[in-house]
This record gives sequence, C-alpha cells and structure tokens, in this order.
Amino acid sequence: MGVKKVKEPVLATSEHVVTKDKSRAAIRFLLTVCLSLMVVAIWEGWSARQYRLHDKEIAMANLAQTLSSQAQASIKQADTVLFSLVDRIETERMRLDLPLLKRLLSAQRNELSQLHGLFIYDQQGAWVANSSGILPPNANNSDREYFIYHRDHPDRGPRVGLSIKSRSTGEWVLPVSRRINNPDGTFAGVALATIYLDHFLKLYNSIDIGSNGVINLISGDAKIILRRPFNDAVIGTSVANGPLFTQLLPKGPSGTATVRSYVDGVERVVGFRRLDDYPLVIFSAMNKEEVLASWRQETLMSAAIVFLLMSILGGIGYRFVRLMQQQNHIQNELLGAQDQLLEINRTLELLALEDALTGLANRRQFDLFTQAEMGRAKRGHTTIALLMIDVDHFKRFNDRYGHLVGDECLRRLSAIIKENIRRPGDLAARFGGEEFAVVLPATDYVGAFIVAEKIRKAVQHSQIEHQDSGEDMVTVSIGVSACSPRAEETPDELIGAADKALYVAKNSGRNKSVIAD
Ligand code: GH3
Ligand code: MG
Ligand code: MG
Repeated sequence: MGVKKVKEPVLATSEHVVTKDKSRAAIRFLLTVCLSLMVVAIWEGWSARQYRLHDKEIAMANLAQTLSSQAQASIKQADTVLFSLVDRIETERMRLDLPLLKRLLSAQRNELSQLHGLFIYDQQGAWVANSSGILPPNANNSDREYFIYHRDHPDRGPRVGLSIKSRSTGEWVLPVSRRINNPDGTFAGVALATIYLDHFLKLYNSIDIGSNGVINLISGDAKIILRRPFNDAVIGTSVANGPLFTQLLPKGPSGTATVRSYVDGVERVVGFRRLDDYPLVIFSAMNKEEVLASWRQETLMSAAIVFLLMSILGGIGYRFVRLMQQQNHIQNELLGAQDQLLEINRTLELLALEDALTGLANRRQFDLFTQAEMGRAKRGHTTIALLMIDVDHFKRFNDRYGHLVGDECLRRLSAIIKENIRRPGDLAARFGGEEFAVVLPATDYVGAFIVAEKIRKAVQHSQIEHQDSGEDMVTVSIGVSACSPRAEETPDELIGAADKALYVAKNSGRNKSVIAD
C-alpha cells in the first residue's frame, strides 16, 4: 500500500512534464508549418516573377525579329526601285528625257503602297523630277542631310536617313537615297525614295506592348529614326551612351535583357535585332512595371490567402495549446489535491494504528502485529516473547495527582519502555488503560525477562513520585511469556500466559518481573 502511494506522484510528475513537452512540440509544429507556408509562398512568388520576366523577354526578342524583317522588306522594296532608277539614269541618260522619267517615277510609286514619293535631285540639289509630277519653283534640297552625305561620299550603297517632314506634302517620311554619278564618276545628283512613317507606325501601334511600351528604329550610328509612341522631338536623339549600344549590341546582333532606358529612365524588358542588309537596329521594349503588374496582383492575392491560412492555423493552434495548458493546470491542481489526500490518508492511518495519548502502537496494531509475528515464528520455527506491563497502584496515582498528571505519567512510562527496546523488530503498544504490552519476536524467556527487568528498573530509576505506592515512586509489574508457537497456537494463549505471570507479580508484592510457567 505504502509503495503504491509513493509511486503515484512520481508518475504524475512525469505525465506533467510530458504534457508540457507536448504543448511545446505543438507550438514548434505550428511554427514550422507557418514558416514552411511562408517559404513556399515566397518561393512561388519569386519564381512566378522570374518566369513572367523571362516570358516577356522572349516575346520582345520575337517581336524585334518580326519587326526587323518587316522593316528590312519595306526598305528593300524602296531601295530596289531606287537602284534600278539610278542604273537607268546613269546608263540610259534618262535624265534628259524628263517626261519619260516623270512617268516612270509615277508608275513605280504606284507599285508600292508604302512609298510616299520618288525624287531626283541634280548636283545642286534642285528638284529634277518626282513621282507626283508637281515641281515647286526654286525648290532645293541641297540642305538635306542625305544630299550632303551623297555629295561628299562616293560610295554607291543605299542610305537610310533620319525621319523628316516632306517638303512636298508635309507628311512624316523615312528617306532612302542613292547617289547618281556622271559617267566620269563625279557627283550628278541624288535619287530619293521616301517611305510613309505611318507605314511603320500603324504596325507598331497595333502591337500590344502595354501603354508604356516602346518600339525604336535606330540608325547604325545610334540615332533614333523612329519611335513608338511617336514624338518628333526624339528623332535624331543619340542613344550611343544607352545600354543598347554600350552593353547589348557589343555582345551580338540580337538578344534580350532587362535594362533602364537611356531616353526616359524607365526600366524595361527589351528585345533587339540588327537588320541584315541595312545599318539599322530594331528595339522593342515593355515597361517592367507593366509586365509585373498582373504578377503583383496575383502575388498579393496569394499572400492574402496564405496570411488567412496562417491566421486560421494560428487561431486553431492557439486554442489547442491553450487547451493543453488548461489540461496541464487542471492536472497540477489534481496533483496538489492528491498530495493533500495522501497526507490526510497517512494521518488517518497513523490515527488508526497509533495510540493518541502515548504515541505507541494501539491495540489494533498490537493485534495485527502479534498475529503476523506468530505466523512468522511458526514458519521460521523461532520463538516469540510477550511482556505485559501494568502500573502499580495507578488508581491511587490518579486519585492523588489527578487524571491529567496520570496521563503525563503514562506518556513518560511509554517513553521509558520505547527507550529500552532497541531492536527494530520489537513493538511496544498500549494494551489498554495503564497496561502496556511489548512483543519481542525471535526472543526466548531469558531474553524477554532481561528486557522486562531493564524496563522495570528504568521505571524505578526515573523516580516518578507516587506517595501512595508504598515505595514513594511509580513502579511497574511485568508478566513475561514466550513460546515456539505450534500450528494451533494463537496470540491469545501467549497473552493469557503473560497475564497470569503479571497476576503473580502483583500478588507477590508488585515491582517485579515474573516469567509464566
Ligand atoms: P494494581 O494494578 O497495582 O493492582 O492497582 P491499580 O490501581 O493500578 O489497578 P486498577 O486496574 O484497579 O486501576 C487502574 C487504574 O488506571 C484505573 C484508572 O483510574 C487508571 N487509568 C486507566 N486508564 C487511564 C488513563 O488513560 N489515564 C489515567 N490518568 N488513568 C488511567
Ligand atoms: Mg491494570
Ligand atoms: Mg495497575
């Protein structure tokens, strides 16, 4: 019984620790889940962003490729016309036959829808013929950049100039020109084909590259020829120091990147490509902010969902941990209550087995103990002895000194008895009233008698005053019995024998120890 009661709190304490560990583990688990959710969400967001940018870079590269083909084809057509015109003028001396030349220009011009006009200028820049057939008087184009170039450079290749406003119609056009030579190789004039800028702009404007997207046609010497959105102020602007010419083109004739614009400072996802046959570059770009706008929205949305999930998880986790902590708390209280009950139980047990006045074993414990020791003696074939101790003339003691002093005397006698039985297996009990019993397991008559005499003499030596005892002090009489119990023998027989011996001791003058027959 005692062993079990000691063990229970130990078990409960380890359970308490386990509960604490569990709630810690639950918190750790929740934190891990939340953290993982966050990491996954961030990683997904990041890779979606990278994918979006990469996707648009490829789209821009493809667009640059397509637009470069278109520009190449448009210019090539105009240039082919120019080439044959110059060839015929030089070989057939057609310039002299002006009506024929005018008809030819007009016919060629009608062949190509992108052509705004065809023009022939002489070596002074004066208008010789054009496709419209109308020649303004004194018109001179010797100030045009392409005219000056051809006059000063002998090379026979085509030249694509910066966009200009036509002097004949006021429209924005792209000039493509070739030099006309005299038979001796000297400068004879310039043949010019102008392409409607609208031919390019209509196409560029029809492409969805966002409200802030840009398409540029750039000359080989890094000047803007044409730009969507169209703005005549930027025509001729040099972008030689921009990232296209400083970083991208040196790496290759085509490519893609994310760079900050040299013109307006906006960061863009760009694609670019050099034209195969002309010193021109096509550059298409989308605003990075616009590319990422839908991604941003989606990311915000998924962040909100993750946040919601985490809040729900946190809420549930919080309640769960709270419940665990409450359980812990209740368990603690139960443990406290259990400890109190154990304490009460111990007290009750002691009360049930102890004599309240003297603190010795009570009659109940004496009976249980004697029974058990008799059994043991039988099994072990050993002896067991019993002392019955009775205070002499105690009635008179009470009568003279009062009951309370009587009680105190009984307590002192108890202490003396206890002091004189030193073996751990011995038991001193209050048998009843002023009578005490001492059980001495594994003890024979001789040993028991020695203990009895020790007690009797100790009482005598303690000199407790008792004027009516005949000896002026408290004394005790002791009956001693002992036996090697046989199977049928009971504690009553041992007690009876000790009682008889006590009776003899009383009758033979008291303050004596007497061994039973
Ligand atoms: P003897 O044994 O020497 O023959 O004489 P006695 O006076 O001791 O014998 P008896 O058995 O007649 O008296 C016992 C007395 O012990 C009676 C009672 O007053 C007293 N007594 C018994 N129990 C208690 C107790 O718990 N406290 C006190 N103060 N006295 C007790
Ligand atoms: Mg008595
Ligand atoms: Mg007595």
